[in-house]
Amino acid sequence: MKKVARKDIAELLAKWQKDFTVFVPSRDSGNAEMVVWDGKDVTFLDWYRNTIVPPKSKFLLNMEKMFGFSKDGRGYAIEAPAEAPPKQLIFGIRPCDARAIGIIDMVFKDSYEDRYYLSRRENSVLVGLTCANPYDSCFCTSLGSGPSESANVDLLLTDIGDAFVVEEITDKGKALMAGVEGEAGKEDEAKAAAVKQAAAAKVTRKIDTKTIAERLPAAFDNEKYWQKDAAKCVSCGICTFLCPTCYCFDINDEMLKGEGARYRNWDSCSFPLYTKMPAENPREAKWRRVRQKVNHKYTFYPMLFDVIACTGCGRCIRQCPVNWDITQTLNGVPAPAAAAEKK
Ligand code: SF4
Ligand code: SF4
Repeated sequence: MKKVARKDIAELLAKWQKDFTVFVPSRDSGNAEMVVWDGKDVTFLDWYRNTIVPPKSKFLLNMEKMFGFSKDGRGYAIEAPAEAPPKQLIFGIRPCDARAIGIIDMVFKDSYEDRYYLSRRENSVLVGLTCANPYDSCFCTSLGSGPSESANVDLLLTDIGDAFVVEEITDKGKALMAGVEGEAGKEDEAKAAAVKQAAAAKVTRKIDTKTIAERLPAAFDNEKYWQKDAAKCVSCGICTFLCPTCYCFDINDEMLKGEGARYRNWDSCSFPLYTKMPAENPREAKWRRVRQKVNHKYTFYPMLFDVIACTGCGRCIRQCPVNWDITQTLNGVPAPAAAAEKK
């Protein structure tokens, strides 16, 4: 393992900036999110716990021009889509969010390969940062992960105070550290292990994933349960926009005076108008939309890809304006026998 002094992090980012567009956590916009590094500020190392806007926004843009077009008397002329984006490095991604990117990769390279998303993914490296100070809304350890999980990152850094211990996880990660001097000693590695252990112990919120695969399908038609669960939701869509594993999008063509463009933008199954364009929303009732959101992550996605599409990042709990809490929903789903009785 390597070791980089805290005071040398800016130098390391500057080295990487020669080859990549480097993104780091920032709260300049008012919402913590990954933004292009300004070449000097590393104060995020002191305040950063996690971003509000998940790093999926660097791959699935919240709004993206897919291509332009123009129309004249003879018909439409289509502009070629933009070239592959420049190489990008996401510094400080939390393990839960790196895991989430691995989860949505499955959709974008399934039967249809989405080049807009995949070209960014292929051009990116993920530098993870052990989550030493998780929120009380985090429950990643219930989902087979944890605050120092290295799956899907290229490097994993762990803050040991005056330095970071650096684990080179992939060949891309090794290439990033080529020429960087400084090896972690036994004492540094022991400090990093202690930070990781303490971090995992701080994740005290739990869900029962053992029985959820039985309880959720059994309670699917339990309208009473879902009505009660959804009662306070105001269908604002925040929990889905900010969820690192939600990937729904809408596509619109806009045209003015013969010049136009096709845009895609984030969409949310929480909205009453969701899927209104191709047909009517089959889930007009709010409780059906809340049920869909939960079941998509915990029932349907595992059926398709054998993985739960929730990382326990806790954003939907922290950001919901009415304190809807997915862990309460999941833990409250009645057991199969009770579910059958209550229908
Ligand atoms: S953030 Fe809360 S209120 Fe908004 S859609 Fe989600 S559950 Fe409903
Ligand atoms: S459902 Fe909530 S806890 Fe799970 S990944 Fe999405 S935002 Fe995070």
